[in-house]
Amino acid sequence: MPDIIQLLPDSIANQIAAGEVVQRPASAVKELIENSIDAEATRIKLIVKEAGKTLLHVIDDGKGMSETDARMSLERHATSKIRKAEDLFTLHTMGFRGEALASLAAVAQLEIKTRTADKELGTLLIVEASDVKKQESVACDKGTSVCVKNLFYNIPARRNFLKSNASEYQHIVEEFHRLALAHPEVAFQFIETDSLEYDLPPGKLSQRIVNIFGKIYQEQLAVCQEETALLKITGYVGQPHFAKKKRGEQFLFVNKRFIRSNYLNHAVMSAFEGLLPDSSFPFYVLFIEIDPKHIDVNVHPTKTEIKFDDERAVYAVVLSAVRQAIGTHNLTPAIDFNSDVNIIAKLSQAANQSKDVYFEERFSTSLQQSNRDHWEKLFEGDENKNLFQIPPPGPVQTLRFESALNQPESQDNVEEKIICQLHDRYIVRQVKSGMMIIDQQAAHERILFEKFLYQLKNKSGASQQSLFPQAISLSAADFTLVLEMQGEIEALGFKVEVFGKNTLLVNGIPGTLSSGSEKELFEGLIEQFKTNQSQLAIPIRENLARSLAKRAAVKTGQSLEREEMRSLVNNLFACTTPNVAPDGKPTFFIFELGKIESYFNRYK
Ligand code: ADP
Ligand code: MG
Repeated sequence: MPDIIQLLPDSIANQIAAGEVVQRPASAVKELIENSIDAEATRIKLIVKEAGKTLLHVIDDGKGMSETDARMSLERHATSKIRKAEDLFTLHTMGFRGEALASLAAVAQLEIKTRTADKELGTLLIVEASDVKKQESVACDKGTSVCVKNLFYNIPARRNFLKSNASEYQHIVEEFHRLALAHPEVAFQFIETDSLEYDLPPGKLSQRIVNIFGKIYQEQLAVCQEETALLKITGYVGQPHFAKKKRGEQFLFVNKRFIRSNYLNHAVMSAFEGLLPDSSFPFYVLFIEIDPKHIDVNVHPTKTEIKFDDERAVYAVVLSAVRQAIGTHNLTPAIDFNSDVNIIAKLSQAANQSKDVYFEERFSTSLQQSNRDHWEKLFEGDENKNLFQIPPPGPVQTLRFESALNQPESQDNVEEKIICQLHDRYIVRQVKSGMMIIDQQAAHERILFEKFLYQLKNKSGASQQSLFPQAISLSAADFTLVLEMQGEIEALGFKVEVFGKNTLLVNGIPGTLSSGSEKELFEGLIEQFKTNQSQLAIPIRENLARSLAKRAAVKTGQSLEREEMRSLVNNLFACTTPNVAPDGKPTFFIFELGKIESYFNRYK
């Protein structure tokens, strides 16, 4: 029998590859614009006709290509972006497969004009079905212009497979939005036939969002920012009440690459839990920056999927960043759109620094007042500001439960509105929109967490002397860990000294905690710290504050006095982010009056 296996000619191999890389006009737009971005363009113009079916043209002012490179760019697996397999793990460019131009050249008529800065004349290439019809020198601007005509003209089956112009155009617009959002520093123009659809000047992300989606987005954006050892998150989320009935305005980028991830989308949605009207979708534009060695983008040719080596850690950070954003936004409603993303962080930092007594006098600052006002808005709608049932600032109880019992009865009406404690777990109180149910443990963890974090930052934790200092012997590793963090531990209010080999003496504990259980508290703190350390990538201080809050908080199952409940509720809503516990779990939820009514009316 004769040998029958043959290598496919390049033109056919390229057509097959094109089936994966270029599925529709929008994918060509993506590939071409990404090439322009990789070429460091500062201005990119996209022109389409008939939803890109007859013409797709991308013009940039980037680096351009030499004559030889222009020719080479059409070969499959020809790329200037990686040289060896390891480069895949340090990728900083959008492209890397070297397939896009070769694929386009196989399934369309291509006209490329390109010039590098150091040459007076550029190169013109005309290609049809992988066949170079013409190559010559031309006068042209620095940069590259790639014109794709009659996509799939030589593959009728694929051309017929395209959807209506309206639908293909919609795909192009979506792709354009993603690229323009990912690169606000680049100017973009988008021309459909003869009309200028988008004219986006270079600027900040917030401006780009407003320029694409409209002015009303301006008031709706909350800054989202979080940085851990593993990754950094920046961007904006829309306020809950601004959520839309359809999905679509949700953008997640990893190292500036748009990705789809049901898993991380779930993290964002969880952060909004309980705050969104039924079946609605919040707006978000979030950027994750992560060392490329922790991700694999080579999963799918169109590169909208990605693998993280530690997906759970990424989930946790996204969740907490978005929760933080929704909470913090209510502190400072007017984002300065001309300033940087940091503004909220700076504002709240400044506010914190200006307070000399953080906890005991929290309601006395106007920041706290405005925090409460904004929470009120979130739940009650903008009208009737003063109807929220939390009372005006008064003397605030600290959460020292043992002493709270001795406080005189308060005149405040919060008390009447606290209906009861439910199963020694929840505090139920009336709010304007219905019934609020607060998880006592989660709420107290939030309050203590913010307090401890403040003390750590300001080294201001008061200590109470122990009557009977307790010796604690630790493993060698834990002993070293404690010594490494001694400064932080003392800032919280603990007093420790070395007391022999791997042994510590605890002389004092944080002022607001009940004494008598020093040993248990301290050991619990270290245990919790280590658990957090192994599961979450969070900074030491945050971990310490979280751990101690968790250990010291009132627990589920503990019966509370009225005064304690009152104090708990007051202090919760004086927090920066009252809606979630430090671990991200909700602290309360509201059972809407409408829901209660509908329950009673359901047989009508
Ligand atoms: P990849 O982007 O994966 O490298 P492409 O087929 O998209 O593969 O492009 C092949 C090569 O052509 C690129 O590596 C780059 O060197 C060059 N190239 C393509 N588009 C441009 C452009 N707009 N400006 C400058 N060089 C370009
Ligand atoms: Mg490319």
